[in-house]
Amino acid sequence: MSRLAIDYDDVVAAHRRLAGIAHHTPVLRSATADARSGAVLHFKAEHLQRVGAFKFRGGYNAISQFDRDQRVAGVIAFSSGNHAQAIALSARLHGIRAVIVMPEDAPAIKIAATRGYGAEVVLYDRYTQDRETLGRELAEAEGLTLIPPFDHPHVMAGQGTVAKELFDDVGELDTLLVPLGGGGLLSGCATVARARYPRCRIVGVEPEAGNDAQRSLASGEIVAIDTPRTIADGAQTQALGRLTFPVLQQCVDEIVTVSDAELVETMGFLVGRMKQLVEPTGCLAAAAAFTGRARLEGQRVGIVLSGGNVDLNHFAELISTTAVDETTRAYQD
Ligand SMILES: *Cc1c(COP(=O)(O)O)cnc(C)c1O
Repeated sequence: MSRLAIDYDDVVAAHRRLAGIAHHTPVLRSATADARSGAVLHFKAEHLQRVGAFKFRGGYNAISQFDRDQRVAGVIAFSSGNHAQAIALSARLHGIRAVIVMPEDAPAIKIAATRGYGAEVVLYDRYTQDRETLGRELAEAEGLTLIPPFDHPHVMAGQGTVAKELFDDVGELDTLLVPLGGGGLLSGCATVARARYPRCRIVGVEPEAGNDAQRSLASGEIVAIDTPRTIADGAQTQALGRLTFPVLQQCVDEIVTVSDAELVETMGFLVGRMKQLVEPTGCLAAAAAFTGRARLEGQRVGIVLSGGNVDLNHFAELISTTAVDETTRAYQD
């Protein structure tokens, strides 16, 4: 067996680096959610993390391990999503330069947010330019270090601190449900769960439209797909990573999928009943619990709410399709 990219000690070390810098996010409970799922649900609130998503943990953990030369030159990332903001803020906290490569048709609000954290945004045309080539050229010309969004040991270990904090706060769980795109979050969390509670069932949740991880684990090799059409924009990855896949193969029990309609319904529940604004991708794990996709009856369950960055007009449009009496009822707990 070849060595995996990370082990539990890497997550513990990451957690020490993040102490006092990342938020120790709360664990939320809801009697209504418990009644709905037939289980005891513990929601790890990473939508309340700095930059509004767990990605701050991995980004900060990676940059904090730069050597002197890397700090002098700076960091580069390609992303139009939460990873961009995570790298931008982490670089600013370390006093180093950040260059973020984004498609020129990325939402203006995301470009502005990334610039707001002090990063230089380089725009490219996604139809005529290849961002990998552009990024590599920029990185080489200026000596920048590339931090990818999931397939990097320091990123994976940083994301694992989500599960470490959850277990530190609530103890053993029967099942842990984690949103899944490229597998950075799930590989880190699964590493922690396996090391601490060997009997805990670890379940990844991906969008139905892009079930590449489910197929990859079933077939034993990384399956690549076209960019899936789903409102879960943080999980529109085409394939698992070379480093994340073996960790998932070894540690994860099951991958389940949820539909966009189920995500929308869950967003409505989380904001209406629990008063939590969670982005579509951030709802993946909760949706699996509510739809019964993950068989949780009578169990103690951990659910990662992974992020809360969503344009409010888009959010309103999405949840306006759910039944009004479901979303406007008073908080009942
Ligand atoms: C990136 C992201 C994910 C998926 O994380 P991976 O490490 O790519 O699996 C899930 N939820 C949110 C909010 C994200 O930003």
